[in-house]
Amino acid sequence: MRILLCVLFCIGHFSLLAQTPNDRPKLVVGIVVDQMRYDYLYRYWDKYSAGGFKRLVNQGFNCRNNHYGYAFTETGPGHATIYTGTTPSVHGIVSNNWYSRALERIVYCAEDTTVQAVGAPTNPGLHMSPRNLQVTTLGDELKLATNHRSKVIGVSLKDRSSIFPAGFFSDGTYWFDSKSGNFVTSTFYTQTLPAWVQQFNERKLPQAYLEKPWTTLLPIAQYSESDPDDSPYEGKYSHEEKPVFPHAIKDPRNREFQNLPSSPWGNSLTLEIAREALVQEKLGQDQFTDLLAVSFSSPDYVGHLFGTSSIEAEDTYLRLDLELADFLKFLDTKVGEGQYLVFLSADHGAPYNTQYMSDRKYVKQMALGPMIQEKLNEHLHHLFGVEKLVPIFREQELFFRESAFRPGRLERSEVERATVEFLLKQPSLACTVVPTNQSLSTCSGLRRNLLEANYYHKRSGDILYSLEPGYLNYNYPKGVTHGVGYEYDTHVPLLFYGWKIMPGSTKAPTYVHDIAATVADWLCINPPNGSTGTPVQGIGLSLKH
Ligand SMILES: [Zn+2]
Repeated sequence: MRILLCVLFCIGHFSLLAQTPNDRPKLVVGIVVDQMRYDYLYRYWDKYSAGGFKRLVNQGFNCRNNHYGYAFTETGPGHATIYTGTTPSVHGIVSNNWYSRALERIVYCAEDTTVQAVGAPTNPGLHMSPRNLQVTTLGDELKLATNHRSKVIGVSLKDRSSIFPAGFFSDGTYWFDSKSGNFVTSTFYTQTLPAWVQQFNERKLPQAYLEKPWTTLLPIAQYSESDPDDSPYEGKYSHEEKPVFPHAIKDPRNREFQNLPSSPWGNSLTLEIAREALVQEKLGQDQFTDLLAVSFSSPDYVGHLFGTSSIEAEDTYLRLDLELADFLKFLDTKVGEGQYLVFLSADHGAPYNTQYMSDRKYVKQMALGPMIQEKLNEHLHHLFGVEKLVPIFREQELFFRESAFRPGRLERSEVERATVEFLLKQPSLACTVVPTNQSLSTCSGLRRNLLEANYYHKRSGDILYSLEPGYLNYNYPKGVTHGVGYEYDTHVPLLFYGWKIMPGSTKAPTYVHDIAATVADWLCINPPNGSTGTPVQGIGLSLKH
């Protein structure tokens, strides 16, 4: 009876207490695993250690039905979405690269020609900043809320994966320059690298990792979740004959570091600088919550090169699991268990190799964009007598030649109609969205929502289209690529762990753009200024007053 009363009392105790502003974590650690599909939590579950992914799942809160809410599932939009709490239609990062009507060229999502690289002596061509982002980030709002007494640091191998997470007011945004082997930043933030980053670079860790051969963590016969080591669906390092273990990471023909990100050592290197940032910047040491954004790019590079069913991919996750376990122990020691909050998600997922699927009778081809574009232009030329009416056809969108619609020339709506009719006859194309001519939008339901959430009118095409499931946007016979917004691309992990989070899970739909609103609520701060997400429901907090 006494036990029952205690149980009732304790349950009531937890649910009746409201969080006060003093209940905030000392540190928020945002972890993004690039290309981590949701099922990787379970595909390799039996081989994970107790302290890595299993610790986050078993002792944290697992959003099992967590998706991206837009179609172009790529790294730039993914990271922007996680940290701004909204979709490309608002934050403006519509894809990794988009066509700029004003500049009449393709622009890169993190490019900024007004800034220079800092710390990249051999690669002055890096011009990167968050300037293309239209809204504030979680870290920006945290700094605004605490009058900049909170610190925000972002680290990753990829520039876009540190720049968008750390936002505009970042205290440090560092990414890997594969030419020099340095972690670098931009004059957008500072004119010189902090002494600790310079010293980190002087340790020449990438040089040491390059020399380290990649062998499997476990005996190779135990990788029964994956394809054989030498499979026809894998790409390979350019200097290797076959995609088999043990891999030499270093390309003997040059001194650069281009293969390092496509190996598990890229994750090791990322954690080395994450740890150093935490210590040197004294994150999580005072009453003002800090944010450390860590993004692991190597799982994506490995996935692209070797594919999602490769032993290389499995080995990368098994090693990342061990490294995460170490990192959590490091946080326990440096910040204190229960004092830090972790969220883990991914910037997108990935399909299986298209040829692998076709060989097993699920026959889908790559959607060969250039071929469709050529046939479309021929068709429109035949109908309207104007050549190359569609100069840009990429990323599931197309742009018309605007000059063709000047007064007295072609009727825009007729060209749009003919284009949509042509597209719908292509076996790989499912449906269309024409934002300025809704009567030609043939997508409905989820497909339409995903494309519309990707549409930012200053950067998006005149017509957006969805591929049929299973098709790829590019010719990718080896390895995999992503970006088409189906289940395999949109369904990614979302785990909250630590601080006062009580273990649990939900199967209710959650979206990646809910993360920022959820964390902002716990921090008692404003969500980012363009936020369209809502705090995830049902996560219990163990509050004791
Ligand atoms: Zn990728």
